[in-house]
This record gives sequence, structure tokens and C-alpha cells, in this order.
Amino acid sequence: MLDVQKNTSLKPYNTFSISVDANYFAEILSDQDLIDVLKSDLIKQQNLLVLGGGSNVLFTKDFEGLVVKISIPGISSVVEGDEVIVTAGAGVVWNDLVKYCVQNGFAGIENLSLIPGTVGASPIQNIGAYGVELKDVFKSCVAYEIATSEKRIFNYSDCRFGYRDSVFKNELKGKYIIASVSFALSKSANVNTQYGAIQEELNNKGIADPTIADISNVVSEIRVAKLPDPSTIGNAGSFFKNPVIAKDNFELVKAAHPNVVHYPAPDGKIKLAAGWLIEQCGFKGIVVGRTGTWKNQALVLVNHGNATGEEVYSFSEQIINDVNAKFGVKLEREVNIL
Ligand SMILES: Cc1cc2nc3c(=O)[nH]c(=O)nc-3n(C[C@H](O)[C@H](O)[C@H](O)COP(=O)(O)OP(=O)(O)OC[C@H]3O[C@@H](n4cnc5c(N)ncnc54)[C@H](O)[C@@H]3O)c2cc1C
Repeated sequence: MLDVQKNTSLKPYNTFSISVDANYFAEILSDQDLIDVLKSDLIKQQNLLVLGGGSNVLFTKDFEGLVVKISIPGISSVVEGDEVIVTAGAGVVWNDLVKYCVQNGFAGIENLSLIPGTVGASPIQNIGAYGVELKDVFKSCVAYEIATSEKRIFNYSDCRFGYRDSVFKNELKGKYIIASVSFALSKSANVNTQYGAIQEELNNKGIADPTIADISNVVSEIRVAKLPDPSTIGNAGSFFKNPVIAKDNFELVKAAHPNVVHYPAPDGKIKLAAGWLIEQCGFKGIVVGRTGTWKNQALVLVNHGNATGEEVYSFSEQIINDVNAKFGVKLEREVNIL
């Protein structure tokens, strides 16, 4: 029987640690719970918000409606020759899945170690870090349509993955709830060390022939050194996406700012380092009231204690305006604003 709570604080359920309330709150522990809630009268009368670990959201006000927190558990795997199909419930903590795979010698997601959040949210923005994106290992996911409660399987091509993007953030935004995700991993460890910081750390440790466990450890260490821990300082990781711009625009930016940090992107475009752009505007490590940017990474906005979501949001507006004025580049928020 589904337990629906009233007037629930969402502070423990968002890593920014913003203090807001929801009218109704229900935790979903199985596919059946999900079907029950989608068929219930409550959902027809309320706005709905699907929440995983709350590590990619900024609440700017109380949520007038029903929050469903997805906690569907379970990890299983099927070995098919050199390939392994691993399936995890949407509520599994992402890093618990990474640990399971590393311990069992299933290669493919070790570069994504220590990303906060749940398995169910991982396809939504095609999570990525240190040279790997979710799309590189995604096989399929099971989702339920909110309007009809019908089950649908999404394969790779259905998801239209892009940089921090998928169909679930566009045409199908707010239309489906993901219940489980399957990943195609490998039993032979083709480790990916192309990212400079990983190679540097491996060299420092004298590891010439890294295992996937080595990669997972090194990535975790780099992340701990660089990013604030949400359990001590509220944040949602990178607040903005790295802007991807046309080559002509890039030439203009480069002419005015020859040191601009950039990387090649698909279709001849250029990706700029948003953290560098923000830093150049004097924002790195700055404290503005109860919010600000992280001292080691200007791309991360933080809650220094009891900040409201509106404060964080208006600070992000200031950053967007200043970066636009200096570089002629419009930053886009990665974090979901609610
Ligand atoms: C310190 C820190 C570091 C981070 N580093 C990275 C990084 O390196 N790379 C990266 O890509 N991200 C990073 N993030 C962002 C975040 O971890 C990811 O976006 C993660 O996938 C969010 O998972 P979640 O369960 O917390 O999602 P939530 O924040 O709960 O939800 C995010 C969005 O997905 C939707 N959603 C959640 N679950 C489901 C579901 N089951 N079905 C349908 N919709 C759903 C929500 O409605 C919301 O729109 C970081 C965050 C923090 C705090």
C-alpha cells in the first residue's frame, strides 16, 4: 500500500539543501508502486515531480503538488560472452552500481565513479565525466508513461542522447518515469585514460597498466579534491553546461581572448570551458550573501547555509549576464530549476 505523506520538507531530498516543502510526497519502491500511483486519483489532481537523489535540481519555491521519490532497488547481470548486460532499478544509487561493476570486473562506467544521484536519472541528462558518457554504455531502459501508466522500453536510438541531453529533457519532458536501466558492459577491461588528469594521477602513483578499480579510485580521488561534498556544503555539481559554439563565433571569442580554454566538439563546433569563462569574470570562490561559487571550481554554485533557491538563481543570472557581456556567449543552466 502506497504511503502518501502531506506537507513534507524537501530539504533532505535535494543536495543544494534548499528548504522547501511539497504538498504530497510518496516513495516508490517497485514498478507496481509506480503503476499504482500513476493510476491513482491523486496524480490526476496534482502537479507531479519525479525525484531521484535531488542532485541536479534547484528548488526556488515550495512544490505545489505530488513529489514521487524513485527508490526502486535491485541490480542483476547476465554475461553473454565478453559482454555483460547489467540492469539496475531506477532508485539504485549511481555510485553503488559503479562499485558493483568494478567489484565484478565489468568495465565501462568506472570513469563515472562518484557522480551523485540515481540510476534512473542517469539517462535524463546523459551523465558524463572524465571522457565517458552514459550513452557509451546505455542499452535500454524501462519507463512508464505518466498519462496512461503504460510500460515502454526505450532503446539507444529512442533516447536521442546529446551533450547533457536526451529525449527526456526535450519532446518527452515530464511524460515518462524511468523504472530501470540496462547497460552493455565488457568483461575485458579496455580502460579509458584519455582524460589528462587521470593519466597524470596514474603516473603519480606509478600505475602503468591500470585496472578498472585503479581508474575508479583515481577518478574518485580527483573528484573529492575538486568538488564540494554535498553532505557538508549544498551544491548540484556543475551549474552550467559548457557552451558549444560555431567555429565562426569561436574565432571572434579567440581574437579578443587568445587564452580561451576550448575543446573540439562534434560537427566542427567548439566547446568552451564554462568554468574558465566564469572565472575570468572574477567569480571563482566568490561569496555573495549566502551563496557563491566553489573555491576550486567556479562552475559549481554553492549554498553557504540557509540560502534560498531564489538567491542561488539570481546569482546564476548575474553570472550569465556578466559572461555574456564579456565574451558574447550565453551560458545555459545544466541544473533543473523548479
Ligand atoms: C557534487 C556533484 C557532482 C556532480 N557531477 C556530475 C558529473 O560529473 N557529471 C554529470 O553528468 N552530472 C553530475 N552531477 C549532477 C547529478 O549528479 C546528475 O545529473 C545525476 O544524474 C542526477 O541524479 P538524481 O537522481 O539526483 O536526479 P534528480 O536531481 O533527482 O533529478 C534530475 C532530473 O531527472 C528527473 N528524474 C530523476 N529520476 C527520474 C526517473 N526515474 N524517471 C524520470 N525522470 C527522473 C527529475 O525529474 C529531474 O528533472 C553532479 C552533482 C553533484 C551534486
